[in-house]
Amino acid sequence: MIKNKLLKQFLVEPGTEVSLKDYVTDWTETGEARELGKEFIKERATAILEESRASLAEAQELLYASDTHSVLIILQAMDAAGKDGTIRHVMAGVNPQGCQVFSFKKPSAEELDHNFLWRYMKSLPERGRIGIFNRSYYEDVLVVKVHPEWLGPGSPAEPDAGFWRRRYEDINNFEKHLARNGTLVLKFFLHVSKDEQKRRFLERLTNPEKHWKFSEADLAERAHWKSYRKAFEDALSATSTKRAPWHVIPADRKYVARALVADIIVTAIRNLGLKYPEVPPEQLARLTEAREKLEGEGSGES
Ligand code: ATP
Ligand code: MG
Repeated sequence: MIKNKLLKQFLVEPGTEVSLKDYVTDWTETGEARELGKEFIKERATAILEESRASLAEAQELLYASDTHSVLIILQAMDAAGKDGTIRHVMAGVNPQGCQVFSFKKPSAEELDHNFLWRYMKSLPERGRIGIFNRSYYEDVLVVKVHPEWLGPGSPAEPDAGFWRRRYEDINNFEKHLARNGTLVLKFFLHVSKDEQKRRFLERLTNPEKHWKFSEADLAERAHWKSYRKAFEDALSATSTKRAPWHVIPADRKYVARALVADIIVTAIRNLGLKYPEVPPEQLARLTEAREKLEGEGSGES
């Protein structure tokens, strides 16, 4: 497990004004990490990921058995920050029946005809399940804040500060509703540097096996880096709440990001203090009866 003290530096304290320059993108470059050395950190991170995967599989089973809560994991990031890889690695050991991933792209005409939370509500995890949103309703205060022309019919052509403030409020109220009704909401912003994004795009353009991952739209969005950064800062500041806090995860090193995300999820589920349901005495008596009946059977097919 990663120490609470270390994890705290990645948490957006509710009510604080976020400036992303205060959050590192490469944790291995920090003073405390330098002392440990990159090789050591890589080994530790791999071990932590491995441990967390096993713990997560257990936690998911308990979540399912106790049937009182669900978990919603939200991943937001600039392109190529590693959302897909994080989901693949962190969830690798979890029973596929207990976990569902939803990736949200540009909304359809039908989706735009509803309120902006509608399409996400339909995909919320049921009790006992872990749901992952690969992009989420946060796109509705991020990408569309950078491109208000994509807001859809019925929205102002030039939304003012009040428009965004109301959306943040809607999101906070929505998450409050979820939390009150047994959904643990965990939000991760994978924080990648502009240089690292360039390296990853170049890798996609150079390595034929990665060509398929490159989209020209990614370059177009990269050109708006500053506006996205501001939109992220505004959203993180306005929507990190006690019930549903944001974590800003240093994502330049994939192994660091994956270990952190896995550990935070496991710790949060453990903190729910779930218990396997206890069988009532009369059912226990029936279980004993069934066991005795089975044990009393002769062997073979007869
Ligand atoms: P990858 O590139 O790794 O396959 P991705 O999540 O980037 O995954 P894409 O199909 O490349 O998937 O991009 C989805 C696009 O849809 C993103 O540019 C995102 O900003 C956009 N999008 C998501 N939600 C909304 C929304 N509510 N309004 C407008 N655009 C949205
Ligand atoms: Mg993409």
